[in-house]
Amino acid sequence: MIAPCPTRAEAADAVLGRLAQIVGVKHVVTDTLELAPHLVEPRELFKGRARAMVRPATTAEVSRVMVLCNETGLPVVPQGGNTGLVGGQTPHETGDEIILSLTRLDRLREADPATNTLTVEAGMTLTRVHDEAARIDRMFPLSLASEGSCTIGGNLATNAGGTAVLAYGNARDLVLGLEAVLADGRVLSNLSKLKKDNTGYDLKHLFMGSEGTLGVITAAVLKLFPRPRAIETAFVGLADPAAALKLLELALDSAGASVTAFELMPRIGLDMVLRHAPGTRDPLAGKHAWYVLLELSAQAEHGLLEALGSLLENAMSRDIIDDAAVATSLDQREAFWKLRDMQSEVQGREGGSIKQDVSVPLALVPRFIADAEGAVGARIPGARMVAFGHLGDGNIHCNVSQPVGADKATFLTRWAEVNAIVHAVVTRLGGSISAEHGIGRLKRNLLPAVKDPVALDVMRALKATLDPKGILNPGKVL
Ligand code: FAD
Ligand code: ZN
Repeated sequence: MIAPCPTRAEAADAVLGRLAQIVGVKHVVTDTLELAPHLVEPRELFKGRARAMVRPATTAEVSRVMVLCNETGLPVVPQGGNTGLVGGQTPHETGDEIILSLTRLDRLREADPATNTLTVEAGMTLTRVHDEAARIDRMFPLSLASEGSCTIGGNLATNAGGTAVLAYGNARDLVLGLEAVLADGRVLSNLSKLKKDNTGYDLKHLFMGSEGTLGVITAAVLKLFPRPRAIETAFVGLADPAAALKLLELALDSAGASVTAFELMPRIGLDMVLRHAPGTRDPLAGKHAWYVLLELSAQAEHGLLEALGSLLENAMSRDIIDDAAVATSLDQREAFWKLRDMQSEVQGREGGSIKQDVSVPLALVPRFIADAEGAVGARIPGARMVAFGHLGDGNIHCNVSQPVGADKATFLTRWAEVNAIVHAVVTRLGGSISAEHGIGRLKRNLLPAVKDPVALDVMRALKATLDPKGILNPGKVL
């Protein structure tokens, strides 16, 4: 007699059983309550389902999991801290995928102060990476508001940006070596500490920014920097983004690599923070249309305050800035940063907020902000643009808050329309529709219109080579 074929569900159960043999029963999570927070992304734009969440603890276990998934065609969604803002880490609604959580893979493999490197596993949180670097009197500069929960693996998979890019570069600039597990389970091991190594293609860069579609990052060798001995922070009021650009030029001219942050905020964003974030106050006496948070860092303990003072005086005498306050204590510095860091969060208290993450060539930022605000205002009268962010990188989060008193749900149905208006301006100015958050699911359908067709062909060819069965984060990016 011929045995009946197993149903799809029976086949899936059999695979889960085999996964449990690899990682242990309690690390194949199917409990609805335990799974729930891993099925939704931070802004609740996407909510999915999953067969299970699998939590390997070693690279060898990740490898064995991938061998099994490749063999059985089980799709895998890598997930770190689940703070990504484009839905890349969220499984689809079909429930056919497993989540591969990297959070147990969080060991420090080596701290090497002589070479200025830290070798860490992918699931270590960014805050812990900072702490491990500080333990050997070094600094790892990547800085994001989500650093308490995001993981270094997620940071590298998204090539995260944040507030220190101006001085230190994106996540990909902070990596010397990488270990990744391929779709078929092979381990690509290149935990090199070399600054110079031109032995062929630099494959680590394929995985950084690939959002879990080409391989699973399991460990990395990170570059460390000397810890600055002096940091000075100013909160500056000025007339417009063009003045902010002039200040940036002046700052780079006089302080060069000491300029470690240059963040732009509009008055409307500051007002929202002052309204909704308890304990915040305006550091300046008068009101200004725009603000810059400017930070200088140096190795020398003395002289930085004077350098900042003369920079601000120079800018004032040339009518580039209108007023400035310099932090005189750590508390004050943190208070200035809070005004910047709360910009996005408080928009949620003002009703619907349509989020943007775009970049344009530096010199065109003022024109971009003016054109985007004009175009959105013409379509949705009363819409409030809060254009803030990493001016030094040409990366502006020009989020759009609903008109006062409008219906939140109705406003949010216009997400794609508002994005299309802003992205049209971005494209006209030679910019990018995703500066630092990635493509994931959110911008996947927009990619073909903005990416060079040959580049897209090469991306598809790489995907087909590295993941021929299409099991790694399907339906994301491409
Ligand atoms: P997840 O969200 O879990 O995953 C993100 C993507 O990476 C997914 O596609 C996932 O499949 C993939 N992935 C995760 N781990 C791995 C791995 N080990 N191997 C392969 N693929 C993997 N981003 C910025 O760039 N700049 C900011 O300033 C910034 N600020 C933020 C502030 C807040 C409050 C929040 C909530 C988010 C912010 N983000 C920012 C977005 C987010 O924090 C980053 O994208 C972060 O790098 C994601 O890390 P994660 O561990 O949470 O990854
Ligand atoms: Zn940002």
